[in-house]
Amino acid sequence: MKTISILGATGSIGTQALDVIKNNPEHFRLGAISIGRNINRLREILTDFTPHLVSVQDESVVKDLTSDYPHIEFTYGEQGLLDVASSSCDILLTAIMGSIGLKPTLKAIDNKTTIALANKETLVAAGDIVMRRAKENNVSIIPVDSEHSALFQCLKGENIKEVEQLIITASGGSFRDLTREELTHVTLKDALNHPNWSMGQKITIDSATMMNKGFEVIEAKHLFDLPTEKIQTVLHKESIIHSMVEFIDNSMIAQLGNSDMRTAIQYAFTHPERLHKNNPLKLSELHQLNFKPMDFHRFKMLKFAYDALEAGGTLATVMNAANEFAVGQFLQGQISFLEIEEIVERRMMMHDNIQNPDLETILSLDAQYKSNMR
Ligand code: NAD
Ligand code: MG
Repeated sequence: MKTISILGATGSIGTQALDVIKNNPEHFRLGAISIGRNINRLREILTDFTPHLVSVQDESVVKDLTSDYPHIEFTYGEQGLLDVASSSCDILLTAIMGSIGLKPTLKAIDNKTTIALANKETLVAAGDIVMRRAKENNVSIIPVDSEHSALFQCLKGENIKEVEQLIITASGGSFRDLTREELTHVTLKDALNHPNWSMGQKITIDSATMMNKGFEVIEAKHLFDLPTEKIQTVLHKESIIHSMVEFIDNSMIAQLGNSDMRTAIQYAFTHPERLHKNNPLKLSELHQLNFKPMDFHRFKMLKFAYDALEAGGTLATVMNAANEFAVGQFLQGQISFLEIEEIVERRMMMHDNIQNPDLETILSLDAQYKSNMR
């Protein structure tokens, strides 16, 4: 029996993780959770589960919740996230959105808790620090992102020195068939309509801009510690192959599956074992698998991510923060779709890169570049 705690339990990943726990009551129990502002969804969760600790974003709701659920401890705000991260459990699933996940993730690592990592922004903002801290504490970081779960599975039992390249697949997001010209007029509603995956709003926009794939390249770099040139991406619109590894002898191993994040979440919970699950990929219904090279002109954000990796230092931190700001503006209808990448590019250009930053530097740049600076 493993106790699982979840940061971001009301989100897309959090909800699917709760499904996995509910479907396997003899294997998993829920420990502590954090949520943002979706109190209705929290109340639904509390009809099925009894976490011992719940963190909410706003203090104002704590009093009512405490009187309605006297057997549960409630906490709030950034401290609440740290409380959840430091409460004892076997696995902490980081399914919160954005770099706000960084401090709680480090806290859990210091507590020697295994991390099931969905919150990729944490590795983009501070991958060197997080991975170093995990190594020092002998803590495993198990990927939940479907591509990295695929790579992790393909690499199982392999010697990393024999890897020729990691090939991360990309669905192409909501606008994969549009030209740059056509992107000028796309709307928020169009952007939120992902062809293959149902996900939270921010990652859906990141998929449409291809920032998400850029993040995933950086995430792979930190998780698997390979030279950047060994991390490649390919357009694969069916999202059936979740990623693949080519070895030095030209053998390739791929991981395939439905577009169902519960497979990757469940594997992160059961690794190194597996558990039965009831949603198989029907190979006979697949007609074709397509692959196309990535176009860095069409998908500039992917290029920015490779630039940030190449530069090292704080450039990826700034890129992530600028993107969080810009996507927030887009979601509020303040800017157009293409302005997202303009803002990210401008903020990356204006930044004086700092090599080997400490955590304080990263947190301060994150706050600065996430704000409404001019
Ligand atoms: P989501 O927006 O659906 O959920 C985010 C969760 O974080 C919610 O519970 C929300 O309340 C909480 N949250 C957000 N801001 C908060 C704050 N300031 N304080 C406290 N709580 C806050 O997002 P998601 O799609 O589930 O994605 C979560 C993470 O997983 C992201 O980092 C994303 O990139 C990654 N991821 C998601 C998917 C997917 O299929 N959805 C796949 C791979 C990786
Ligand atoms: Mg992914």
